[in-house]
Amino acid sequence: MKNNILVTQSSMPSFEEYCEEVKDIWESHWLTNMGTKHQELQNGLIKYLDVENMEMFTNGHMALELSLQAMNLKGEVITTPFTFASTTHAIVRNGLEPVFCDINPIDFTMDVPKIEELVTDRTCAIMPVHVYGNVCNVEEIQRIADKYGLKVIYDAAHTFGVKYKGKGIGSFGDVSCFSFHATKVFNTIEGGSACFKDKEFGKALYRLKNFGIRGPEVVDGVGANAKMNEFCAAMGICNLRHIEGEIAKRKLVVEKYMEYLNGVEGIQLNPVQDDVEPNYAYFPVVFNEKVFGATRNEVMAKLAEQGIGARKYFYPLTNTFDAFHGKYDVNKTPVALYVSKRVLTLPLYADLPLDIVEKICKIILSCKG
Ligand SMILES: *Cc1c(COP(=O)(O)O)cnc(C)c1O
Repeated sequence: MKNNILVTQSSMPSFEEYCEEVKDIWESHWLTNMGTKHQELQNGLIKYLDVENMEMFTNGHMALELSLQAMNLKGEVITTPFTFASTTHAIVRNGLEPVFCDINPIDFTMDVPKIEELVTDRTCAIMPVHVYGNVCNVEEIQRIADKYGLKVIYDAAHTFGVKYKGKGIGSFGDVSCFSFHATKVFNTIEGGSACFKDKEFGKALYRLKNFGIRGPEVVDGVGANAKMNEFCAAMGICNLRHIEGEIAKRKLVVEKYMEYLNGVEGIQLNPVQDDVEPNYAYFPVVFNEKVFGATRNEVMAKLAEQGIGARKYFYPLTNTFDAFHGKYDVNKTPVALYVSKRVLTLPLYADLPLDIVEKICKIILSCKG
């Protein structure tokens, strides 16, 4: 169908800019294995994200999965079910047990007062998500982690470039993982990174992403292969040049949505957070059908009729996935369940025309009963 508006559209440099960037690759014949593009992007990202150390990966999921593996954990990991499959799968694929904490009804991050109730003598880590770019209560999470000796692994896939109290969001916890997937605020086509303070941890991560190879004739770990290649790094170098402009354009889209939807009865929006420099990654809207007079699914269908592709991020909750065969009791996370049944994520990307945003808002408001 023509003129369809999807929930997101990847940011891209001009074709000429990308060709110019990859020219060196033709000259060097160095296509992957931590080449010069990889190094240049990593240096640029460390600076832009304001983090100490970084390892880059084929994707954000492998950053999460291998970060957990590098910690050699056993037992339970307290996490949120209101997220993308990746967060929960990274835990389960490491042979760890996810323990689902409910979310708070304001910004949909983990409901921090509930974390301590879930700590047992088997708990080894907390894995929160800065969902939609909303920053978790990082201070309180660290306090709980310190009190019980737990690791903190942030899924920061939605918070590229976000700052909290002037500090890069990737500098919190033992490790914070970003996704550079095509659909994210910043992309390397596919890609991701783990940011951390402990250099020894970094060495373990490096070996895990490169077959456990320590030296030319020494393989002392059983690693995977999750290296970022030079073409993806080149895309990242180009996209990083334009990131501030892209985020500024996203801000205009969000402001336009706010103009129409803020304060509408039956519509709940995430609040602007104190001390946070946001990245305008997503625009989630929660419909209270009793007050608004239409359900999330009805609004979604009306938008679809007009070629507007809003998405149900995050529905279903990860603790209800068929993959887990009813192992987890979804009634233990009632707020997450409530929100997942009512949330709709509206189209949002840098080049989304503001008149389309107005059209989307008008369609939504026309559903109001
Ligand atoms: C996108 C995403 C990931 C995984 O990133 P990929 O780069 O696609 O592997 C992990 N967690 C969340 C919350 C995400 O949205």
